[in-house]
Amino acid sequence: MNSQIYLSLVVPCYNEEESVPLFYKKVITHLFPPPPPVLGNLEIIFVDDGSKDNTLKIIKNLSEKDNRVHFVSFSRNFGKEAALLAGMTTAKGEYIATLDVDGQDPPSLIPEMLKVVSSGEYDCAGTRRVTRKGEPPVRSFFARRFYAIMKHITDIDIVDGARDFRLMNRKYLEAVLSLPERNRFSKGIFPWIGFRVKWFEYENIERKAGETKWSFWKLFWYSLDGIAAFSTKPLAISSLMGIILFLASLLGIIVVVIRKIVWNNSAFGWASMVCIILLCSGLQLFTSGILGQYLAKTYTEVKQRPYYIIKEAR
Ligand code: UDP
Ligand code: MG
Repeated sequence: MNSQIYLSLVVPCYNEEESVPLFYKKVITHLFPPPPPVLGNLEIIFVDDGSKDNTLKIIKNLSEKDNRVHFVSFSRNFGKEAALLAGMTTAKGEYIATLDVDGQDPPSLIPEMLKVVSSGEYDCAGTRRVTRKGEPPVRSFFARRFYAIMKHITDIDIVDGARDFRLMNRKYLEAVLSLPERNRFSKGIFPWIGFRVKWFEYENIERKAGETKWSFWKLFWYSLDGIAAFSTKPLAISSLMGIILFLASLLGIIVVVIRKIVWNNSAFGWASMVCIILLCSGLQLFTSGILGQYLAKTYTEVKQRPYYIIKEAR
């Protein structure tokens, strides 16, 4: 491919007025040292995900001063997945990197990642953090459980601690964009498409400025979305529970019949009856809830709404 841009950086931003200038400065020092340009033509695409602070203003200023800076601004907050998608769709580079604006994804790794991918040996360079330093212990615990569960119930290999900080070639990017689903769980989409991925590891870096947008509960629901997007095992488990209960009830019927024939008493155990009714109706609600989750996902897919609405772009 003969595109003029060599490397595109896709940077999602939501209420990041403090981080954007820091990020830009850091990228300039690591990747755009004053002439000569060592890495060919570059572009930075900031995706303003409906920020309510001065993020867009700051990005626009940067883009006026530096014509390598571009932006896409959403009409409201559509979430990081949508922001990444918008940036990746607009990116013109032969190589495309996605990274957070908050300094948690070190741009200093980019030259090395680029070397690995441009050599043709790998199609994508991914990053994973090997520590969860600075994260609340409860969150780390649940995050680890989530990865363990995903490993068991999906066919894809979701790497523990994998970040959205990636550098890919165009072939890889096209593959990611070819997945039409609305429920975009990119932690699953990337491993699903395959190709050769080289992993870079680093210790967790704490945010340089601003705050994380992820509360515990937001992460919790996000992980359920991920499970629903990449596995239908929960449905199979529900059916299995139904079969087990059915077999147990057959056993119960046999016991009752024998008791009636041999000892002529079959009716006792009011308390156990209540327990059984509660257990069964609980399980029924639980499994129809699971079914509902998949139906809801199907519903959003069928509506075919756009992933995001762009208010302004340059
Ligand atoms: N982000 C976004 N839209 C959102 C939430 C976050 O574009 O709705 C961006 C945010 O500006 C940052 C990146 O996604 O560049 C990661 O967000 P954050 O640092 O809050 O997540 P964490 O690093 O804690 O996982
Ligand atoms: Mg962050």
